[in-house]
Amino acid sequence: MDFEFTEEQRMAIDGARRFAQEKLAPAVAELDEKGEVNLKALKELGGLGYLGMTVAEEDGGSALGAVAYAGSMIEFSKVDAGCAVAVSVQNSLVNDAVAHFGTPAQRKRFLPKLASGEWIGCFSLTEAGAGSDPASMRTTAKRQDGGFVLNGTKNFTTNGGIADAIIVFTRSEAPPGGKPGISAFLLTKDAPGFKVGKHENKMGIRTSSTTEMVFEDCRLPADALLGEEGKGLKVALATLDGGRIGIASQAVGIAEGALEEAVRYAKERVQFGKPIAELEGLQFMLADMATEVEVAKTMLFRVAWMKDAGKPRFTKEAAMLKLYASEMAHRVCHKAVQVHGGYGFMKEYKVERLYRDQRITEIYEGTSEIQRYVIARSILGA
Ligand SMILES: Cc1cc2nc3c(=O)[nH]c(=O)nc-3n(C[C@H](O)[C@H](O)[C@H](O)COP(=O)(O)OP(=O)(O)OC[C@H]3O[C@@H](n4cnc5c(N)ncnc54)[C@H](O)[C@@H]3O)c2cc1C
Repeated sequence: MDFEFTEEQRMAIDGARRFAQEKLAPAVAELDEKGEVNLKALKELGGLGYLGMTVAEEDGGSALGAVAYAGSMIEFSKVDAGCAVAVSVQNSLVNDAVAHFGTPAQRKRFLPKLASGEWIGCFSLTEAGAGSDPASMRTTAKRQDGGFVLNGTKNFTTNGGIADAIIVFTRSEAPPGGKPGISAFLLTKDAPGFKVGKHENKMGIRTSSTTEMVFEDCRLPADALLGEEGKGLKVALATLDGGRIGIASQAVGIAEGALEEAVRYAKERVQFGKPIAELEGLQFMLADMATEVEVAKTMLFRVAWMKDAGKPRFTKEAAMLKLYASEMAHRVCHKAVQVHGGYGFMKEYKVERLYRDQRITEIYEGTSEIQRYVIARSILGA
């Protein structure tokens, strides 16, 4: 067992910290207020290799691996959790799906552009009537003229408004001799019949784009299929295991950022003639926060290590990690606001944003209830 980062991992994480301070921190408060994406910074991250961290070098990636990715995500999330989720979707949900399920032609066409940030990607699974239960989706793909025609509307798609490449999941007809199922498709934003729909106005991660994706007689060639026809749910579920590493690292970063702010504030704020950091009640609160962040971080790097080590499945571990890290971040951000008293409720203080940003980590890529369901099924052998 080795708990040290390699030199390469350390350099990637240190670089992410510098980037977050220099490029994300100055802009985040205003962009959060306006609900706008820092697309310039996101593109720059592509140039620096942070949008292709698990993509092989021969496919144009930086191949730094999941541990370096998790550590970098912590640094981005501390400062701008909206930009961080865009990085997470690109690495975990889009690149990984294309790398694992794409044909050689799809890998060649999409991965170099995604890994360099020339293209931004998104992963469109959820619909208005199909969230925790994606199998009940209603978007359809019908075979026509040797290709497919898609109809339906996806919602809540992260990066939707800035995406050049789209992974979308549909209900599909039974192939000759097969059964109907869910299929995944990989397309570009200029596909005829596709358009971006409503842009969501959100509580948190306001520097990320979340939109509807509308398919109206959207015509795709046969080679737009990602993975086997009718086996799209497998693509979604296997990809989401890795995705949960991204969201857990987002939660850890938000929590660590809130802890750092709380420590700083507790040392500065004077009440009853001394800094509030000298009050035992607050010291215990800070000690609990720091301990919880450390536990989640340890779990995070273990699951990221499992991915780098090529362990075939880490579904249970990824679900436990995402569940613990996101609920930990909830508790830590709650306490960080408490340490700030009334000032924590004000937009001038960073904890106010972190508190709002944290909330989504308990919801997307599977709610906490769904993570508990996945864990229970695994330990009960169901
Ligand atoms: C900001 C944002 C970004 C998102 N980005 C993406 C994206 O990029 N791509 C994408 O495809 N989706 C995305 N989503 C969708 C997200 O993954 C879903 O919102 C989430 O999976 C929950 O689905 P739902 O909102 O329909 O809630 P529902 O499934 O309707 O759940 C409502 C409540 O019921 C509970 N529940 C449901 N089923 C069970 C069960 N079996 N047992 C116990 N409790 C249950 C849930 O835990 C929840 O508390 C995003 C959502 C948001 C808000």
